[in-house]
Formats: sequence, C-alpha cells, structure tokens
Amino acid sequence: QENHMQVHFDAKSVNEGLARMVVTAFMTNMNPTLEQIADVKTAVSEAVTNAIIHGYEDETKQVELTCDQNGQQLVVTVEDHGVGIEDLEQALQPFFTTKPELERSGMGFSFMEAFMDRIEVRSKKGEGTRVVMWK
Ligand code: ATP
Ligand code: MG
Repeated sequence: QENHMQVHFDAKSVNEGLARMVVTAFMTNMNPTLEQIADVKTAVSEAVTNAIIHGYEDETKQVELTCDQNGQQLVVTVEDHGVGIEDLEQALQPFFTTKPELERSGMGFSFMEAFMDRIEVRSKKGEGTRVVMWK
C-alpha cells in the first residue's frame, strides 16, 4: 500500500501541534500502535521546532512536511529553506545547541534518532535543512 502527503505551513510555533496532528492522521491508515504514534509525534515535534526556531531567525517562511507510506514503512520529511547548519556533525551531538539562552538542551536530534528507526539530515548554510525520518 502506498500513500503520499505534503503540507506547507508558516514557521510559527502555533503550527507545531498542527504538524503533529497531520502526521498522526496520516499514520492512522497504517494501524500503528500507540507507542509508534507517540514516538513519531515526538520526533516530528523536534524537527518542526528546529525548523521554526533555528531555521528562520526572524523572517517567517514556510516549513514543508511530507509523509510517505511504503507498505508498513512511514517516511516523514521536514524541510525549511532557512539559514542552514554550519557544522552538521557538531549539531548532531547530544547536548550541542547554538541557543543555550533559550533554554535549549541540544537534545532534539538525539530524540529524533532515539524515537525513529533512522534519520538523515542534509543541510547547507544559507539554503536550509532537510530531515528525513523512517519508522
Ligand atoms: P533542543 O532541541 O533540545 O531544544 P536544540 O534545538 O538546540 O535544543 P537540536 O535539536 O539537537 O538541539 O539541534 C542542534 C543544533 O542544530 C541547534 O542548536 C541548531 O544550531 C542546529 N539546527 C537544528 N535544526 C536546524 C534548522 N532547521 N536550521 C538551522 N539550524 C538547525
Ligand atoms: Mg531542537
């Protein structure tokens, strides 16, 4: 069974809940367990929050959220066209944050890795960031 969905929304915190709900609704057809739903919601929240708070520093632009179903496999993509990540290897380290003043703990990518089966991050300074997550 195959299915595909894409939504764009403003990079505003009010839309974090929207992103979680959209992904949850998409997954419903796949008969997920409650644990799978909770895991995916956590990972999506982290990726979308990153796009909103790090991707676009003051200008509000769009976040793209894509879901793909390939049989029992879910692939979620969160993409922004914002500032990008200068040193990706460093950004992926647990506890690394460039915004400690905002009480960030630097655990977003670690949570995405822990709650999903696999994640892949692509980022280019000045162009944006794309996070692909498999469950
Ligand atoms: P936490 O997620 O625990 O609140 P955090 O967001 O700083 O803290 P991570 O989510 O692990 O931690 O991200 C690590 C760092 O990677 C961020 O501090 C930021 O510098 C960079 N980063 C992550 N996502 C993006 C993005 N979409 N655009 C630009 N930089 C990003
Ligand atoms: Mg984060």
